Amino acid sequence: MSLTIGGWRIDGVDTGRFWLDGGAMFGVVPWTMWSKTNPPDAKNRIELGMRALLLRGHGRTVLVDCGAGHKWTPKMAEIYRIDYAQSTLERGLAAHGLAPSDVTDLFLTHLHFDHAGGLSKADAQGGISLVFPNARHWLQRANLDWARAPHERERASYLPEHVGPAGEAPGLELLDGPEEIYPGFSSVRCDGHTVGQQLPLISGPEGKLFYCADLVPTITHLPVTWVMGYDLNALLSMKEKKEVLERAARENWILAFEHDPKTAATRIAVDEKGRFVAKETVEI
Ligand SMILES: [Zn+2]
Repeated sequence: MSLTIGGWRIDGVDTGRFWLDGGAMFGVVPWTMWSKTNPPDAKNRIELGMRALLLRGHGRTVLVDCGAGHKWTPKMAEIYRIDYAQSTLERGLAAHGLAPSDVTDLFLTHLHFDHAGGLSKADAQGGISLVFPNARHWLQRANLDWARAPHERERASYLPEHVGPAGEAPGLELLDGPEEIYPGFSSVRCDGHTVGQQLPLISGPEGKLFYCADLVPTITHLPVTWVMGYDLNALLSMKEKKEVLERAARENWILAFEHDPKTAATRIAVDEKGRFVAKETVEI
């Protein structure tokens, strides 16, 4: 079901599922707490969505993030339990009547494999080529620089077959901080999860929609202290999340979740104990 904000028709695009270690997804939060809402499999992994965001308007067709793609060995596909039974990037776009060549803009929150893997594909000659050859590729310069020489703690998430083609895309547009790239399409820059994550904020007379990516990966991560173990700087993540969620509650934003396998979007409130809680799910 589409939403319209600021002249943008907005839809979620299911690009597939994958599973990550539940402990890593919830940092210092004990298993006894997160396993109630996110039941783990036999290897202690929890199910995650890879929900891209499609925005059509102002003469543009913008895709925000693009899932994990298909360049996976069977061994790696099993480690992350990558599951394309329900959908893929291509099928997700086709459900909206689109092919990859129709996408005019690929807005990448950051280059971690589960957000950017779908930007490149293996070609028949054994090389790697772009999935969206006609698209402007929007990235924070700081994220590209960081991803090109990742710290060893993040090396498993920034893969050369994604980072290389992104950095060489003919339509590469590098941003230094948040910027309104099209009418009503701006972003929030966050650096706690990784360096140079950018999160779209869509604004119009109808209200605002914020795409949470890895700042708030699932609805279970709404509490400020429920931060991923993957984050480079947990204290900064908490500060950034608190600032965003305070605004979101005050201004009644729609929060769209990339990784929640069930809930696509919600509005939030602050309860009597000062905690951020979901108050109304929204279909996208
Ligand atoms: Zn990430």
